[in-house]
Amino acid sequence: MEEQHGTVVVIEDDPHISDLVDLYLRRDGYRVLLARDGEQGLNLIQQEEPWIVVLDVGLPGELDGFDVCRRIRAKGNLPVLFLTARDDEVDRILGLELGADDYLVKPFSPRELVARVRAILRRTRDVAPPQEIVSIGDLEVDLRRREARRSGEVVPLTTREFDLLTFLSGNIGLALSRHQLLEGVWGADWYGDERTVDVHVAQLRKKLGDSLPLATVWGVGYRFG
Ligand code: CA
Repeated sequence: MEEQHGTVVVIEDDPHISDLVDLYLRRDGYRVLLARDGEQGLNLIQQEEPWIVVLDVGLPGELDGFDVCRRIRAKGNLPVLFLTARDDEVDRILGLELGADDYLVKPFSPRELVARVRAILRRTRDVAPPQEIVSIGDLEVDLRRREARRSGEVVPLTTREFDLLTFLSGNIGLALSRHQLLEGVWGADWYGDERTVDVHVAQLRKKLGDSLPLATVWGVGYRFG
């Protein structure tokens, strides 16, 4: 199967941070794989061939972020975006010439992280950004133009409907709970009823008909693709 999204490996032991990074990167169309320590992260990198690694400096276990970065560099030019908690770590990142592509000091805005990831990939990959158009069957989700097309015909959607479709198309094949969809589309700080999701799904189904590859997963939520 052709890969439609760039893969990002995130190596970070703080689940609060990695969940947030995961959410925002997935919302932007990336495939995200999480590792809690350096060894797990290096294994994922070897198996999954990501486009970029988001790497915490302070990691539990044998390998800290600097060790991991050295091993990555020993094998090639995979871009690395460091996450650091302290200024003296920044000095080391810059001083040791580990070949870090960029770094962010905690606490950082997840939007800023997504922007940095995009910028690094624009610099390092001679390709269009990932996920510009997701096509499944006769449905096309054009993320740049914010258009949904059915057999080439534009289907008008509201902003929120399109955001929902974008989030779904960034999570192909995954069973997503209503809660995850609420968080991903409406935001973690949105206080609302999970039935909101059902209402918007119903609208998408009405507008896109059979072209919408969306299954109801009993007791969970929905699966796209
Ligand atoms: Ca840490």
